Amino acid sequence: MRVLLTGGAGFIGSHTAVSLLEAGHEVVALDNLYNASPESLRRVEAITGGKAPLVIGDCTNARDLDRAFEAYGQIDAVIHFAGYKAVGESVSKPLDYYQNNLDATFMLLRAMKRHNCRAIVFSSSATVYGTIQKMPLREDFPTGCTNPYGWTKWMNERVLTDCASADQTLSVVLLRYFNPIGAHPSGRIGEDPSGIPNNLMPFICQVAAGKLDHLNVFGNDYPTADGTGVRDYIHVCDLAEGHVAAVEYAVEHPGTEVVNLGTGEGYSVLDIVHTFERVNDLRIPYEITPRRPGDVATVYADASKAKKLLHWQARRNLDSMCRDAWNWQKQNPDGYGKDKE
Ligand code: NAD
Ligand code: UDP
Repeated sequence: MRVLLTGGAGFIGSHTAVSLLEAGHEVVALDNLYNASPESLRRVEAITGGKAPLVIGDCTNARDLDRAFEAYGQIDAVIHFAGYKAVGESVSKPLDYYQNNLDATFMLLRAMKRHNCRAIVFSSSATVYGTIQKMPLREDFPTGCTNPYGWTKWMNERVLTDCASADQTLSVVLLRYFNPIGAHPSGRIGEDPSGIPNNLMPFICQVAAGKLDHLNVFGNDYPTADGTGVRDYIHVCDLAEGHVAAVEYAVEHPGTEVVNLGTGEGYSVLDIVHTFERVNDLRIPYEITPRRPGDVATVYADASKAKKLLHWQARRNLDSMCRDAWNWQKQNPDGYGKDKE
């Protein structure tokens, strides 16, 4: 099938393009390059030997969407990655987040109708589970958010679910990602954050590269084995393969499904630091600092629905995640750097 990837030049989109091409599908990316470089898709082509065409355009613009739907033939399904994703920034610029992340979905759904495309997989997040929950998190648990970014995911889930209830021909798969890290093992594509990274793994990589002098570990007084926060880290290539399974499911099954994409296992901040040090033979200096506001002690998925419904489960371990993250950083100290344009 031919799959449109909105936000397809980004971190998860580019890895998903590789997995789709490897599974024998065709891809078309639509990206406004707000947080990505066209170089990522050139490298997807180099890795796979396939075609990963990019339509430069905005998902909130009907004409750009029409171009993407028309440029390479009938689109059978969409994977909707496009959106702003920085939690902290969403608190200071809520309107930008609500406008971009919601308008993109509204306009996309209308474009899908115009172009007779009836299957969509949406990038949601474990953040929609809110804070007070029993672990592991199951898809039928109550939802609620703590920041505008999270609410945009929550609202998009609602909009997509309601549209699928109103139109029996529409298929929606809402994927709730846990913590994607790592990079393609080739080291050719990976996460390229601008400025000082907010997330743990890109921060560790920049400490390892000598760009930052130490890691701040946000709190060691949580009720966890070593006192540091526990999360469900998932290799981005496993996540990408989860999207292939989800989109193949979506085209065959109208209605809405919500599916966690995680490993079902939790690792602490210090587990990550020590694994990264061991597999890469490096030291990561760190300091314990106060908790980061809004963080919770422990988050991990119940990953059983993905296995049952999509016949998918994560297969790469924490060693691979740490090795591949460093391999990408080492080979691309400035991300896509001078190849950015
Ligand atoms: P990313 O920023 O690398 O990719 C998002 C892409 O969307 C970027 O390439 C950006 O240029 C593009 N974009 C943004 N607004 C657009 C618009 N209006 N029109 C066209 N393109 C637009 O982020 P990512 O890490 O690859 O995340 C992909 C999706 O997954 C996002 O929706 C994100 O919120 C969600 N998600 C990510 C994580 C994570 O940890 N990375 C976790 C949960 C959910
Ligand atoms: N963390 C940390 N130092 C950092 C960044 C993150 O100690 O510089 C911790 C954070 O408190 C959380 C875990 O690492 O326990 C994962 O954080 P990240 O921001 O990567 O993802 P989140 O789970 O918050 O979405």
